[in-house]
Amino acid sequence: MQIHDVIGIGFGPSNIALAITLEEKKQEGYDIDSFFIEKQPSFAWHANMMLDNTHMQISFLKDLATMRNPSSHFTFINYLHQKQRLQDFINLKTFFPSRHEFNDYLAWAAAHFNHRCVYGEEVFEVLPERRKDEVSLLRIRSRDSHNIVHERLTRNLIVSVGGTPNIPECFRSLKSDSRIFHSNSYLREIARHGDAKKIAIVGAGQSGAEIFMDLHDRPGAPHVDLIMRARAIKPSDDSPFVNEIFNTDFTDFVFSRSNQERGSLMNEYWHTNYAAPDLVLIERIFDVFYQQRVTGNTRHRFLRRHEVAGALALSEGIQLTLRNLNAGCEHVETYDAVVLATGYSRDHHRSLLAPLSPYLDSFTVDRQYRLQSTPDFRPAIFLQGACESSHGLSDTLLSVTAVRTDEIGHALLSAVHEPAVTQTDSPIRAVASR
Ligand SMILES: Cc1cc2nc3c(=O)[nH]c(=O)nc-3n(C[C@H](O)[C@H](O)[C@H](O)COP(=O)(O)OP(=O)(O)OC[C@H]3O[C@@H](n4cnc5c(N)ncnc54)[C@H](O)[C@@H]3O)c2cc1C
Repeated sequence: MQIHDVIGIGFGPSNIALAITLEEKKQEGYDIDSFFIEKQPSFAWHANMMLDNTHMQISFLKDLATMRNPSSHFTFINYLHQKQRLQDFINLKTFFPSRHEFNDYLAWAAAHFNHRCVYGEEVFEVLPERRKDEVSLLRIRSRDSHNIVHERLTRNLIVSVGGTPNIPECFRSLKSDSRIFHSNSYLREIARHGDAKKIAIVGAGQSGAEIFMDLHDRPGAPHVDLIMRARAIKPSDDSPFVNEIFNTDFTDFVFSRSNQERGSLMNEYWHTNYAAPDLVLIERIFDVFYQQRVTGNTRHRFLRRHEVAGALALSEGIQLTLRNLNAGCEHVETYDAVVLATGYSRDHHRSLLAPLSPYLDSFTVDRQYRLQSTPDFRPAIFLQGACESSHGLSDTLLSVTAVRTDEIGHALLSAVHEPAVTQTDSPIRAVASR
């Protein structure tokens, strides 16, 4: 069986950026055999939130390559040049392309690596391979859409699997009810529930706010209740001094602090990324509610200072018990569909790597994002997008992506150039799973 130098789980922006970095290192004389496994059938960036009139929340200069190597083939500017849109883009006078365009840029970059990536396989397990008295390789097990299990061997691993939908406790037992869905599957599910007349959105962060406007503009004109605990929707602060926390050198600062200081920084800047839509979007929503007051229309309701205390699946709809946090009372409402705009958790790597936990130091990472391990564990495992608590708020965003892959690339080269493990003779295994 072929042994790869490195396998990457997931082929979103983080691992595409890494593939680019490794490709450019090849031009410097370093050759690392890399391979990526992506569960989606083809490249797509948050496809179910690819709404019209949505734009990037970050400058296009924080693309897959510019911050690391402005002369890279893979910059957003070169993409525009290749697509013959550079001059027209300049005339747009914006740093914030549409999400449709950025998705197209990412797909363009990803297509350069089709020979190094398999799509349509979901990694479900990573196993240690012991040779003599140490773990020298990892066995990566993935399942395709026909339920066939594939196995591959690698010396090193990069886990870049993004977020997992965060489902509030009271909805967990109703997970199989298709009338309740997370923003992560919004476009797919709303198409299935096109006849829904009354819809609840739980959460009013960027995704909740975008979904509200999308539902408002839909031809079926559903009634929407926008439910959130806070008193006001506050905008994300992207003013220049605050934005410095997303600079690449701020990662050094965050990493060097104590846990307590990092916690305080997280609290201080939490609203730069969470539960904080763009100001223009907030203004559009305010205008919708204002116009309702002008016309006397009561189509939508803004249920601020409300939380969902319970949820029941009934034949006539999803019944939510809503607690009014100001009045301290509860009432019930029934909806045809409930959208959970409740964010993501970032701990999927823990279940994927669970078989390795005896060798890992409670999933602690070093500055180069490498998981700390016992001395008898040789493979280097890196995490991208799961290190917010140690590396700062930029970790789950595109802000440091290009530079982070340079840091990981250096650490990976050191790991690869440690004495090599020889090839085994068994072919790639494909095993039907039960
Ligand atoms: C709607 C939306 C808009 C956003 N807009 C911005 C923005 O404007 N600016 C910004 O900085 N950030 C934005 N973000 C944050 C987002 O996290 C980053 O933009 C970026 O997607 C992070 O890249 P990633 O590769 O780490 O994760 P992801 O993009 O989530 O990619 C992870 C990939 O791994 C795959 N995968 C997961 N598990 C497995 C598995 N077990 N096996 C195989 N493959 C797997 C997934 O299918 C996915 O393709 C946005 C997020 C959302 C949800």
